[in-house]
Amino acid sequence: MKVLMLLLLITSGTKKVIVTSVSPLRLIINEMVDTSQVKVINIVPRGQNPHTFDPRPSDVKKIANACAFVYISDIAESWAPKLVRNLPLKNRPRILKVWKLLGRKESIYINPHFWFDPYTVKKLSGVLADSLKDCGAIGSEKFLNRLDSLILWINAELPTLKTKCFIPSHNSWTVFAKAFHIKTTTPLWTTEGTELSPRKIIRIMKQAKKCGTKVLVLDSIYNPDLVTPFRENGFKIVELDPQGWDEVTYTEFMKKNLTKLFEALNEGN
Ligand SMILES: [Zn+2]
Repeated sequence: MKVLMLLLLITSGTKKVIVTSVSPLRLIINEMVDTSQVKVINIVPRGQNPHTFDPRPSDVKKIANACAFVYISDIAESWAPKLVRNLPLKNRPRILKVWKLLGRKESIYINPHFWFDPYTVKKLSGVLADSLKDCGAIGSEKFLNRLDSLILWINAELPTLKTKCFIPSHNSWTVFAKAFHIKTTTPLWTTEGTELSPRKIIRIMKQAKKCGTKVLVLDSIYNPDLVTPFRENGFKIVELDPQGWDEVTYTEFMKKNLTKLFEALNEGN
């Protein structure tokens, strides 16, 4: 027993660690590493808004001891560059920024929720796997195959949907909609899930009527009571998980969410 415990301690001690800002990045990297050799963790905890996150000293420690730290963008995660600046100068982890890897310019207008577009994830996977080679990434080939199957499945489902429009709660699933030519109304919120004004509700309901939908996609970080007026007016509320807290891989996370979304789009017009 003691020997076993010791062995466990030794193996977990030698496991390489990659830290990500948000959970979807953890899911993506999990697809390109051998999880028995590499541990991937995200620091923005469940239920916390990644845009306004405030890292704890324990998070800084985790990153300082990691092989790499991967985040999305300096502007979308303004806490991240600050944290990187405060890392000790010796043995710094590799710092990787998705926006840079994608060759995109930073601006306040970017929509950081890139993971809702599997085509963008495809673009990212090769360069990310290459950059994480020293940290245990085994390449992106298998992941690319799984992404292709996901995209094939989505494109096969789309023609069967009764409505190809929905109300997004936030600028998250809009990225998915745009990639697959699905229409959306104005999102309910830009960042925060605050009380909605009656004027805004009416405006969005009008837009929904115009594009023939009664489906509202609510990101599970928001309080469902905030959309009661929509529920009372016969809208179908589908709660999707934008961060995949309980998931292990990106492709599974997308498939679970999209199965729910497609079910709703088949009922909600
Ligand atoms: Zn967001």
